[in-house]
Amino acid sequence: MKKRIVLLGPPASGKGTQADHISSAYAIPHVSTGALLRSESEKGTPLGREADMWTSKGQLVPDDLVVRIVSLWMAEHGQSFIFDGFPRTVRQAVYLDSALKALHSSLDLIVLLELPESEIRRRISDRLSCIKCGATFGATLHDLSAGDACPRCASPLVRRNDDNAEALDKRLEVFRNQTEPVIAYYEENFPKLLCRINAAHGSDEVFASLARNLVDA
Ligand code: ADP
Repeated sequence: MKKRIVLLGPPASGKGTQADHISSAYAIPHVSTGALLRSESEKGTPLGREADMWTSKGQLVPDDLVVRIVSLWMAEHGQSFIFDGFPRTVRQAVYLDSALKALHSSLDLIVLLELPESEIRRRISDRLSCIKCGATFGATLHDLSAGDACPRCASPLVRRNDDNAEALDKRLEVFRNQTEPVIAYYEENFPKLLCRINAAHGSDEVFASLARNLVDA
């Protein structure tokens, strides 16, 4: 069973949903750097306030800050993980490799969820997120509006401050310029670990493809 997994993909490709699913099916801790940053921001910590300045504009938070929260997480939780939204730059990928190497460990699987831009835009314009558990829902599909109770934990649903057309344009540009090189880095250094999955299918179908790749051959 693979237990050190990185999940890459553009905004709204379903990284959070799939990571949650894997986490509950296989008891692998799910770490979303976006969610860790949003939680710092809600607590109003200095780190959260600094992160907000970047996330609200759709820009990446500086590598040093992200590396700091990931190192803290790894020190507390150990070496079984599914990272969602990390690494997002080549520097972060290099950091992760060396942190694992120092622990005589390495990644088991790198998953890329692929989604066309038209579908990304459609999903983002329709997306509501829970302020507490972070679950996301298509407003139309689930007949939900901002302020309604989260179907999972009953906390309020909101539109994220970066789920608007302007911030999305920036996030897509950032994905192309900074995260696509991470895919190239993994293709070059760990070609056997990288698996591409079509994320345009329904989430159960995407999960079934993922699950096949999680189990050791
Ligand atoms: P999405 O995948 O929909 O963009 P995330 O919750 O993963 O949403 O990330 C939200 C925001 O948090 C990003 O746009 C970015 O500003 C910040 N962020 C999350 N992860 C990272 C990271 N690894 N490096 C830098 N910034 C990050």
